[in-house]
Amino acid sequence: MVYKPDAFFTSIDKIPFSLLDLWQIQGLILDVDNTLLPRTSYQISPEIRDWVLEAKKRYNVLIVSNNTVRKIRRVADPLDLPFIAWTIKPFSLYFHKAYRKLGLIPEKVCVIGDQLFTDIQGAKRTNAKAIYVSPLAPDDDLPWTKWRRKHEPKILAEWSKTEQLFDA
Ligand SMILES: [Mg+2]
Repeated sequence: MVYKPDAFFTSIDKIPFSLLDLWQIQGLILDVDNTLLPRTSYQISPEIRDWVLEAKKRYNVLIVSNNTVRKIRRVADPLDLPFIAWTIKPFSLYFHKAYRKLGLIPEKVCVIGDQLFTDIQGAKRTNAKAIYVSPLAPDDDLPWTKWRRKHEPKILAEWSKTEQLFDA
């Protein structure tokens, strides 16, 4: 299944670095809206900020978002992270561009995001690892995202949360 993630956590800060190390990950591609912060907000929680800052010490980290350059710059700059914005995930073109920017083969990269049909599908189609996180504020989603999400609960119900295996 092309949109099945390799792991599923309730929030990005619950992802243990030991799992990424087990997979021999060297680079991370992070989604922004509803993964790092709610879509309508610029406020990142202290827990998520700490996780990202620690991740930066361990891996090459890149933000890839379908949102505008203007919004993404306001999130990426304070975290001192490079970004590619205004993409159309799940198109493979943007994922390959991201792997090139990271200087890594997809097998060494883990994509982390809150949408099965954009983040996860794009990652799996191009042979990267993928971790799904529950959306921070799904009520804030755009109408077409909400429409896409209608199919997610049924699919997600089949998988158990990976964090249960990690004592989170
Ligand atoms: Mg998102």
